[in-house]
Amino acid sequence: MMGRLEGLIALVTGGGDGIGRAVVDRYVREGAKVVVLERDRKLAQAVESAHPDRVAAVVGDVRDPEAHLTATERCLETFGQLDIYVGNVGVYDFGAKLADLDVLELPEHFHQVFTINVLGYLLGVRMALTALRASRGSIILTGSSSGSYAGGGGALYVASKHAVVGLVRQLAYEFAPEVRVNGIAPGATRTGLTGVGDLGGGRALREESRLLDGIARAIPLGFVSEPEHHAGLYVSLASREESGFVTGAIFPSDGGLEVRGR
Ligand code: NAD
Repeated sequence: MMGRLEGLIALVTGGGDGIGRAVVDRYVREGAKVVVLERDRKLAQAVESAHPDRVAAVVGDVRDPEAHLTATERCLETFGQLDIYVGNVGVYDFGAKLADLDVLELPEHFHQVFTINVLGYLLGVRMALTALRASRGSIILTGSSSGSYAGGGGALYVASKHAVVGLVRQLAYEFAPEVRVNGIAPGATRTGLTGVGDLGGGRALREESRLLDGIARAIPLGFVSEPEHHAGLYVSLASREESGFVTGAIFPSDGGLEVRGR
């Protein structure tokens, strides 16, 4: 049976774990070949060896323009083209309240969260743009329910995910008609999502069972999602047949936060 992404080449940042890894596994099942840009060498090796000949991993950090250059070049050299760019790396702030942050440390906290969550997407998209224009490809950025609602993170994370909404809209406007740009906004997902520096660096969301139980109670569907729950949307938005008229849109995958009661 033909996969829905047969013959397409994708680049997924943070494809070594969590939502990114689920997207890579699903893309491969749908017939795509994938380059992964991943900071963690072991995770990079693991995803590559899980999919021999179909996944090539580049070890690098999304804050580094050179890493994006290498990843884009790997797509073109190894697989000959780039059709789907998935910007996905993000870090959390574990709900750090502004009032609790030392004002002198705030510039550094801001820098840490925004260089990964926002600049990382800008650098990756900028680097991949020529190849995506050539293939009339598609960009998908991982946002968050924190791109629409307060309370799912602290001011830095929520502001950074609102910025991703702005990126999707502006880039869809700038890159039309050649390249479609959309976002997916997951709600709470059982992953190793971590913080940065003093904002939860070393913590992992999936280990915080009390926090996750509380979140599950606030979700209309009543449970915290697994990374695989979101992967189908990444396939649909990447497929020209299924989403050829969709751009500038953000799709929630959050268990129904829009219909949450008080
Ligand atoms: P995760 O930590 O499980 O996966 C992120 C991956 O990116 C990991 O493999 C990690 O090693 C890699 N990575 C981290 N920093 C990097 C860097 N600077 N350069 C390169 N690679 C790096 O997290 P996840 O939950 O899958 O998060 C993926 C995206 O989903 C993020 O943008 C996050 O904000 C978003 N999101 C997550 C949740 C959730 O509850 N887990 C909810 C909404 C949105």
